[in-house]
Amino acid sequence: MAQRPVWRSSMVLSTRLKQGAAATAAVLSVGLLLWAAVVLGGIRSPQDAVDFVKDIYRLVVPDPLRPYVWAAERLLLNPLLYAVIAAVFVFEWLRPANRQQKLLSRGFVQDVFWFVGDGILWIGALAFVGEALRAFYDAYLSFLTIGSLLHAPQAVRIVIAILFIDFLDWGRHYLKHRVWWLWAFHAVHHSQTEMNLFTDFRVHVLERVINNIFVFIPLFMFQVAMPTDYYIALGLGWYRMIYHANIRTSYGLLKYVMVTPQFHRVHHSRESAHLDVNFGVTFTFWDRLFGTHWSDYDQYPQTGIEDGRFPFEQHAGNGSIIRNWLAQTSYPFVVLSSRVRAATQSRAARIEATSEEVASGEPISVSSI
Ligand SMILES: [Zn+2]
Ligand SMILES: [Zn+2]
Repeated sequence: MAQRPVWRSSMVLSTRLKQGAAATAAVLSVGLLLWAAVVLGGIRSPQDAVDFVKDIYRLVVPDPLRPYVWAAERLLLNPLLYAVIAAVFVFEWLRPANRQQKLLSRGFVQDVFWFVGDGILWIGALAFVGEALRAFYDAYLSFLTIGSLLHAPQAVRIVIAILFIDFLDWGRHYLKHRVWWLWAFHAVHHSQTEMNLFTDFRVHVLERVINNIFVFIPLFMFQVAMPTDYYIALGLGWYRMIYHANIRTSYGLLKYVMVTPQFHRVHHSRESAHLDVNFGVTFTFWDRLFGTHWSDYDQYPQTGIEDGRFPFEQHAGNGSIIRNWLAQTSYPFVVLSSRVRAATQSRAARIEATSEEVASGEPISVSSI
């Protein structure tokens, strides 16, 4: 039997030692936090623990933001959300779009990190951003409010607002694919080769900020009261989550109106024939209207992007997930800086060529101007 080289054995040992040290540190930290909570918080019973959490909540969340936090709790702690997630897992297992993809693939693990590291942080920040945007809107943009709809029932305003949001989403999505520096950010979302329930959270943080501004402002224009606006922003998010899953369906007759997993998979396709189609975010009629709809409902292509510079995830363990996330978040800035550097160098080369022609007395060529 072949012997394992000594250096390899020592590497395995050092990795195990590091893992052991990290696990011990994690257990000690949790223990320390629990001890601090019990001793400093004076916790003697389960009721004390609940009161302690409530006190922290009152301390951290100011009064005007509580409706948003309450709405977040109702959504995130909603058993329906977890029932939907479980149902999607079953569906992924029974009717996968990509049969080769494992249920808990490397891409899935990376996207769960995007969800935890980016999604949940952002959901927490959404209430603050929503409130700040409302103050900004009231101070500077209130002239955009659609006065003629102020007395219409809330349901009518919500429907119109959702249609308007979806139209803006379509236009913005189209631009993200056509403007190179917007694409540098949007490419992060398209980099997933193993589409799954959490791929909707693989969105660069700057793109997410801009997306949400374009959701909230229309809700203010149509005077959709809080926290309904927050429910709508998160509810639309649930819908997007489901159509990113690895499931083989186009929702029957609903496909003529709603974005489906099949429709969105074609948008994520790496095949050149599918380039720049199916930009719809909730409804499909904008693509039909503007001629960007892919009408074959039976295609479930491979997804991803062809970009040798993109830091695709190769591993999902030993801190790789965090390194992948950092590299993917940095990717648009790497693209922007290399484009700026290339433009500066070519401009410097043009100026140098022109001054050499002037110095030599030769006529300046048209191409050098
Ligand atoms: Zn896209
Ligand atoms: Zn997508």
